[in-house]
Amino acid sequence: MQKKITVVGGGVAGLVAAVAAAEAGARVTLFEAHRRLGGRARSTSAPYIASEGPHVFYADGPHWRWLARRRLVPASRLGPAELLRARMRVEGRLRGLPPAPMLRAATRRRLRAPIGRDFTSWATERFGADTARWIANMMGVVTFDAAPGRLSAAFVWERFLRVSRPGWPAVRYVHGG
Ligand SMILES: Cc1cc2nc3c(=O)[nH]c(=O)nc-3n(C[C@H](O)[C@H](O)[C@H](O)COP(=O)(O)OP(=O)(O)OC[C@H]3O[C@@H](n4cnc5c(N)ncnc54)[C@H](O)[C@@H]3O)c2cc1C
Repeated sequence: MQKKITVVGGGVAGLVAAVAAAEAGARVTLFEAHRRLGGRARSTSAPYIASEGPHVFYADGPHWRWLARRRLVPASRLGPAELLRARMRVEGRLRGLPPAPMLRAATRRRLRAPIGRDFTSWATERFGADTARWIANMMGVVTFDAAPGRLSAAFVWERFLRVSRPGWPAVRYVHGG
């Protein structure tokens, strides 16, 4: 018997749930309060396109693979010119590369962090207070959190390893916002 499924909310999560259920043969009804689908992933209309929420995808996880299989990710990665122009601000100075202790921390690819401890106290023990603070500040960009140092060490460290992975960054920019 064909199942009926109701999905409330047409953000990324609701859309993925609705598509997956429909692909599995269910009859899906999706309710969305807003006039347009997308939730916080919406962008304003042209000509002045602004992202109302996310503008990047990470290409190293199941979310990306799910979308890519359905050709739903028109997105680009940074080119060499953009990467060379990238800068980070550390202690008030702009730098082309992160400080050496931070780079050393990024080589600890097998290190695992505890879930039940905050990132700052765990990372301070291992890498020192400055490096722990630099990493936590950098992870603010990735986690959309104002103080990632207070979050679970496992969560912050896993994301730090992902964004500092050697080779090309996994970040992809969605075309048009
Ligand atoms: C400023 C900002 C930047 C971000 N940048 C990124 C990024 O670069 N990369 C990234 O991966 N993530 C980013 N995020 C996180 C990302 O936006 C969210 O994780 C994701 O969009 C959440 O999707 P969702 O479907 O769970 O919820 P939402 O996008 O919030 O969707 C919920 C939907 O449900 C609808 N709804 C709610 N209640 C009802 C109801 N009763 N009836 C009908 N409809 C209802 C809402 O109108 C909405 O459309 C960012 C978030 C913000 C705020």
